[in-house]
Amino acid sequence: MNQKETLIYLYMLAFLPTAMNIFSVRKNSISVILYTLFPLIYTLFTNLAIYHYPSFPALVLDSLTILIAFNIILSFTLFIMFGNYMVINNLARQQKLLLRSISLQTTLDNSIGAVWTIDKDYILIATNTKYTESIEKEFGITGLKAGIDIRQHAIWEKLSEPLRAQYYSVLQGQDILHEIELNGKHFEIKGVPIYDPKGKIGGATFGSRDITAKKNAEETLLKAKKAAEDANLAKARFLSNMSHEIRTPLNGIIGITRIMQDEKFLPGQYENLKTLQDLSEHTLQIINNILDIAKIEAGKSFLENKRFNLHRFIRKMNSIFSGTAKLKGIKFIIESEGQTDIYLFGDEVRLSQILINLIGNAFKFTEKGNVTFKICSEDNPDSEIQNLRFSVSDTGIGIKKENAGKIFENFSQADSETTRKFGGSGLGLSIVDNILRLMDSRINVESKYGKGTTFWFDVCLKKSSITTLNKAITQSAPDTYSLLNINILLAEDNKINQIVATRILQKWKSNVTVASNGKEAVDSIEENKFDVVLMDLDMPVMDGYESMTIIKQSFPNIPIIALTAASFDDMNNYLSNKGFSEVVQKPFTTEDLYSKIISVLKRA
Ligand code: ADP
Repeated sequence: MNQKETLIYLYMLAFLPTAMNIFSVRKNSISVILYTLFPLIYTLFTNLAIYHYPSFPALVLDSLTILIAFNIILSFTLFIMFGNYMVINNLARQQKLLLRSISLQTTLDNSIGAVWTIDKDYILIATNTKYTESIEKEFGITGLKAGIDIRQHAIWEKLSEPLRAQYYSVLQGQDILHEIELNGKHFEIKGVPIYDPKGKIGGATFGSRDITAKKNAEETLLKAKKAAEDANLAKARFLSNMSHEIRTPLNGIIGITRIMQDEKFLPGQYENLKTLQDLSEHTLQIINNILDIAKIEAGKSFLENKRFNLHRFIRKMNSIFSGTAKLKGIKFIIESEGQTDIYLFGDEVRLSQILINLIGNAFKFTEKGNVTFKICSEDNPDSEIQNLRFSVSDTGIGIKKENAGKIFENFSQADSETTRKFGGSGLGLSIVDNILRLMDSRINVESKYGKGTTFWFDVCLKKSSITTLNKAITQSAPDTYSLLNINILLAEDNKINQIVATRILQKWKSNVTVASNGKEAVDSIEENKFDVVLMDLDMPVMDGYESMTIIKQSFPNIPIIALTAASFDDMNNYLSNKGFSEVVQKPFTTEDLYSKIISVLKRA
């Protein structure tokens, strides 16, 4: 290759960067210089060299001149184009960065609380105005800005030791949420580590907000809750005391009415006595309901878990309501599906309470037709649990759709017309609902206004290993009760209760000695021989607990039955642990008193 050819080839090479300039995808300052300026200069120099060489034919020289001109124009155009592009690009990039930093600062300044970021050497990188303002307000410190090492700044001295430790924890990679109290205010500080692209901790960002209002609201709420709980407890205590006060005379009224019914009375007095008994028993029911609601609301109601027989339970419901059914001329139908001759564990008393309320309502709100009590007992032999569905249907007045929701609220009745016509306290269904909630169940209702209502609920009860009813257990009828020659010491301070209990016990032909307080009971026991003691708990001079303890020291085998109008949870267990052989709740039924006396005498 001669010199001429070499020059031409060299010259042609100048197009290469120009071409690359056109087709290159990434255009930055270096590529523009490289691809544009270089061919320009390069072309100029080769150009000069070619012209300097004289022996080129004219055609070649002309063609080269055109090409050179073309290359120069192209390179120049490209230079201007991409140079411009580069400048515009750079400007846009800078504007973008500026916008980003402004929007970041705006975001920081408009965040709810103070925000600040440090790098791993505790140098402040960014803050918002709320941060600088709050530092000035709370510590009186100014001049905190990006670039300052906070450990060298006056602020560091002002921070508590635990808070400084939090800085350290975050820079170790831990998220923190810390509350501090400052000048009577509460602040919540949140800190999270910042990681660099390699995953190493590069700093930490913190945010804090004034939560004083929230804290105060929480405190007020807690105080209000406590006050409400205290008030509820006080209410429960008051109701418990009041019901005790009311129950005692009621006990007398019910007892004396019963005695009078057993004794000779003038013709025409029977109706009055019956009404007196119904009214006093109804009053007692209301008092019990109010007490129950108060206990449930105060969270003081618990369920017992005792064995009971389902079949007997159903029979009990029948005997309670068959009289009412006869009186009202309404058919009382009891239907059962599945096995009922079984023993289950549960709170029979509460279950009775639910059903007495539901069946009682069904009779109350039904003028004609029938009331159906249905029990579905679903047995799964592989399970320890018996699923039961109880339902009570009637053909009574029904409940309007709009009233169905409110009948379960305390003191709530369907409407004022019902209240006027049927009376009632509006507590029954509320108690039912609350007891069922304790049993993890719910009461359901379906009603057609004017046609009738069905209430139903499901309960799951544990099966007992005793599976069938012991048919041998029977109890004698009340008129055959006898405690002939049994010596009973009755310790009771209330005169009416003394009269009622003595009359009942004497009717059963027992010998009764009355002591008016615990001390008299202790004195009497020394002087006489007794088979059983009936001990009121709440007495003047010496109460029933102390008296029982003293008597037990000298006569450990005498059965002592607690007589009480009090009602508290797990009462039976509590009194049995104290040393009482049995508990009779006042006002007592003659059946209960008799069966408890017989039971302790058999055990003695
Ligand atoms: P009370 O019966 O003392 O009024 P409850 O809480 O037992 O209180 O019942 C609330 C209300 O629900 C009743 O007043 C009555 O309006 C309605 N109700 C309850 N059971 C029935 C029923 N079987 N049929 C029609 N209405 C009923």
